[in-house]
Amino acid sequence: MVSRVIPVEVFDLVIFGATGDLARRKILPGLYRRFLAGQMTAESRIIGAARTDLDTAGFRKLVQDAIEEFVSADRRDPAMIAAFLEHLDYVSIDASKGEAGWTSLNGLMRAGVVRAFYFSVAPSLFGELAEKLHAHGIADGQSRIVVEKPFGRDLATARALNATLASHFEESQIYRIDHYLGKETVQNLMAVRFANILFEPLWNSQFIDHVQITVAETVGVEGRGSYYDKSGAMRDMVQNHLMQLLCLIAMEPPYHFDPNAVRDEKLKVIRALQPVPHDDIVRGQYNPTKTAPGYLEDSENPDSRTESYIALKVHVANWRWKNTPFYLRTGKKLRARASEIAITFKEPPHSIFDDAEGWRENVLVIRLQPNEGMNLTVMIKEPGPGGMRLMQVPLDMSFAEALGEEAADIPDAYERLIMDVIRGNQTLFMRGDELEAAWAWTDPIIQGWEARGDKPKGYDPGSSGPEDALMLMHRDGRRWREIKE
Ligand code: NAP
Repeated sequence: MVSRVIPVEVFDLVIFGATGDLARRKILPGLYRRFLAGQMTAESRIIGAARTDLDTAGFRKLVQDAIEEFVSADRRDPAMIAAFLEHLDYVSIDASKGEAGWTSLNGLMRAGVVRAFYFSVAPSLFGELAEKLHAHGIADGQSRIVVEKPFGRDLATARALNATLASHFEESQIYRIDHYLGKETVQNLMAVRFANILFEPLWNSQFIDHVQITVAETVGVEGRGSYYDKSGAMRDMVQNHLMQLLCLIAMEPPYHFDPNAVRDEKLKVIRALQPVPHDDIVRGQYNPTKTAPGYLEDSENPDSRTESYIALKVHVANWRWKNTPFYLRTGKKLRARASEIAITFKEPPHSIFDDAEGWRENVLVIRLQPNEGMNLTVMIKEPGPGGMRLMQVPLDMSFAEALGEEAADIPDAYERLIMDVIRGNQTLFMRGDELEAAWAWTDPIIQGWEARGDKPKGYDPGSSGPEDALMLMHRDGRRWREIKE
């Protein structure tokens, strides 16, 4: 198979926060890989902006180092890196004060090309950036802005942020990134559901027993403890990433694969989410070990009640999903780094086989990381003589195996999403109303445990989370899938 790379339009992309962690680890290496793939056209330019006093050569060196560090060796072609660096400029700008740099930035922008501005800075700077871009005539009605999470920490702050951006940009110009939506498998979820007749007739509570969504990390909060402590797993992961995954599973077929049609359907799901009772939530904090600090030490807050783990049972109140629970869990310092969605189907209404022991449900697993792919477990006859015994086998599709060499060319989530910004395609970006609805569901849950003063339960690093999370499933006669790579 030969991969089809369609070059995007010529662009001027300004990255505010170009010296920061996200730009160095994801955005700039991603742009290099798109350049290598031939998707970024030769006339396009990338302009870094931050307070650090750098000239263009200094910025190019920073980007070259980032490529060395974050792009795999087989993709580091010295001639291509040198050619890529030629597309980079830099302007020193302090977004929070003064006018220095803005005129230079304006001078670098060209007419007649796509203008995009990536706000890879703290959200507190979004307002000032938006205002200055307009005041200096740098942004116009066709320009696009890309904003990172966290998008607010509750409904009130998200609304305020939306209002700030809306005072300078139309919704059609605002690209709120949730990189989970840029993952190949996540988009494949839509293809599986809406491009095959096989699953959709079964895709409802009549045939699906329950859904599990797991995003497990092995790392702790590392050096970000004091930042993370103001957030926690519910705000940092559930309100955005896990909820987006839930939406793609639960939504009705959109009338067309069109940004607003898809987002309208996702919004309906979020609005149908039921409040979650206290008993259906388990929160945890990882314990210290002999050699490693626990969450309380990492967060530098011995009284912290912030969760590094959360599991919750969620109901979508509509015809399709009545009585099919969605179990969500995410946490740090767990057994393995693994993200997956598992859809467990119900048992057939009547078994004609006596082999009750061998019986297992059909499960469709969509693996997001590592080893992106899909796996459908089906029952077959155990081979050989000895009667009709059943066994479960996987119909396993690893993208790497199924797509061969082409899999190596699959852009990572950031690359794809940045190219979508240039193409002007908002399908994989969260709309403002979607985001506010997500907070409107999240807020009362958080307020509930805050008002009660609940303390998260301890769990051991390398485990699958607090014991109580197992009970959340056991008491419903179900069990979590093993967390494994
Ligand atoms: P970071 O490493 O702290 O970088 C922040 C960047 O902003 C730096 O380039 C900094 O450069 C620049 N900056 C700070 N104050 C500025 C000002 N007044 N004017 C202009 N530039 C300024 O942060 P980050 O990790 O890259 O994160 C950037 C954004 O992405 C944040 O909103 C974060 O929440 C979000 N995010 C990050 C990640 C990640 O993996 N890192 C993941 C998801 C979301 P100077 O010091 O040179 O000004």
